[in-house]
Amino acid sequence: MARDYYDILGVPKGANQDEIKKAFRKKAHELHPDKGGDAAAFKEVNEAYQVLGDAKKRSTYDQFGHAAFQGGAGSGGPGGFGGFDMNGMNINFDDLGDLGDVLGNMFGFGGGRSSGSRSSRGADKEIAVTLSFLESFTGVTKQVSLRMHVACAACSGSGAEPGSKIATCSTCHGQGRVMRVQQTPFGAFQTAATCSACHGQGKMPEKACKACGGEGKKVEEKTISFSIPAGISDGETLKISGSGEAGSHGTPAGDLYVHIRVSKDSRFVREGNDVMSEVFIPYSTCALGGSATIDVVGGSADLVIPSGTQSGTVLKMKGKGFPFLHGHGRGDHHVTVYPDVPVRPSKDQKKALEELKGLGL
Ligand SMILES: [Zn+2]
Ligand SMILES: [Zn+2]
Repeated sequence: MARDYYDILGVPKGANQDEIKKAFRKKAHELHPDKGGDAAAFKEVNEAYQVLGDAKKRSTYDQFGHAAFQGGAGSGGPGGFGGFDMNGMNINFDDLGDLGDVLGNMFGFGGGRSSGSRSSRGADKEIAVTLSFLESFTGVTKQVSLRMHVACAACSGSGAEPGSKIATCSTCHGQGRVMRVQQTPFGAFQTAATCSACHGQGKMPEKACKACGGEGKKVEEKTISFSIPAGISDGETLKISGSGEAGSHGTPAGDLYVHIRVSKDSRFVREGNDVMSEVFIPYSTCALGGSATIDVVGGSADLVIPSGTQSGTVLKMKGKGFPFLHGHGRGDHHVTVYPDVPVRPSKDQKKALEELKGLGL
């Protein structure tokens, strides 16, 4: 149902951020509802730009598609903190100039370019985590310590001194927004900007929290623990919703993006969900058939060698590959078999080999 964001903006997949920004501006101006454009198409273009205009979200989209943005494009309405919903929008108003304020007004998300800091949610945070090859196979729980904004413990993030009364904001009279007349390339618009006195809350504490100065957050060392699913690949990014920087004045936290790196293993190569390896098997086993215990990821397994196995034969061990990240099942392990030629055969081995030679083997 959801249309491809690149198609919506009419840019190729390889477009750079500048081209995406230009395409968005052009479409936004064309489709602007106040100029008789199509409001639904305008909203769609805007949603596409939310993602493609942000390098981080774009890379997530490139990897996981619309699935990474549940509650975003196509679903309408706010969807909590789980996806890039309308509440969580981080539009870059500077990209739009004055149009940004008009957009902000139209969709009711927090604040315009010139209304001071946007306080709708905390900032996203990005980290990189390196896993061993085995950890990417089994899945793992990681703990990281990050210096970041956390909700102030004294006021539970509200910014209000404990016990102080909450009063209606006198600047916006509880509306959370103040109206302004804004000159834009399309003429004068009345726009609503987030009230800077109460940060859009419509109410404010009579006394600000002493511990955090009313911000509701403090910079601290925070330990975050998260589980990484079995089967994850090098280069993938996990989104941990709500584990980013704490928001100001009790607004939701941002998200944490974990970029995954996976170390190599000298024995195995991963291809998709399959694993490739090479083994050296005694010549006699290759010729007569038998079995050999070989390394597979996470342990060992018996490989059946059919008689007459030639050098370079690839044998498949079904289900010994990586678990599928999405859905059930596992990949396979493909083993390339080579006969092991003894470098320094023992006296007895030499004798036997001479006999083989005599038999033309
Ligand atoms: Zn506080
Ligand atoms: Zn106010």
